[in-house]
Amino acid sequence: MAYFLYRAPSLLLYASRASMAPGSPALGAPASAGPADPALIEDLVAANRILADQGVVDGYGHVSVRHPKNPERYFLSRSLAPELVTAADIMEYDLDSNPVDRRGRTMYLERFIHGEIYKARPEINAVVHSHSPAVVPFGVSNVPLRPLYHMSGFLSEGVPLFEIRDAGGMTDLLVRNPELGRALAQSLADKPVALMRGHGNVVVGSTIPLVVYRAVYTEVNARLQVQAIMLGGSVTYLEPEEGRLAAANIAATIGRPWELWKRKALAKEKP
Ligand SMILES: [Zn+2]
Repeated sequence: MAYFLYRAPSLLLYASRASMAPGSPALGAPASAGPADPALIEDLVAANRILADQGVVDGYGHVSVRHPKNPERYFLSRSLAPELVTAADIMEYDLDSNPVDRRGRTMYLERFIHGEIYKARPEINAVVHSHSPAVVPFGVSNVPLRPLYHMSGFLSEGVPLFEIRDAGGMTDLLVRNPELGRALAQSLADKPVALMRGHGNVVVGSTIPLVVYRAVYTEVNARLQVQAIMLGGSVTYLEPEEGRLAAANIAATIGRPWELWKRKALAKEKP
């Protein structure tokens, strides 16, 4: 009897949480905020394919979007190479990165990157994590990643570095728990991009097209910056004011590359 009394509150808690989630099969799983607009899920699928197409992600990397009906939920694919993602692979998570309806699916180990950034940045609705290859050297060098042309003006806000040793000591460099996710979000602060030493980077934006645009042009800028440095002369970077002006102008036109990228990526046969 004593055992029953002791256990009862937690059982009631589980029961009430489960009852908040009609249709949710997992006891204690967070409640769903309901289905998203299929057009948003289509954009998320397109974002996965575009980022693969543009060389930002390969077999690894992921992109998420916040749930428009509940800021405490987000959508992210099950653990899968981005190029293979379809609407059926998209899962809903709470901001602690617990799945609403796991159904035995394997989850990205580093999903905490997304949940913890959504907690820290209420204005952010889309997050990309990648090992974008041209960007990686800037995470291990003391040469800062800086915008050298108008397409990457958003980098003029500065690109912080996440040093995982400061948060977790010796690790396998993966953001595999909420504490490391929080530390990464702190390093990112209010910026659009953060480098992750020895690993990759994270890019954030208010919409899926904006975050995809930023992730693509972070990679392109890194490539061009190395080329400019290799020319051997001095490099003239954008002034912060030029970066701000260019970013504001281009933000109004990203529908153009987005429509092109989306059409190409969705028309392509999956490998
Ligand atoms: Zn990673």
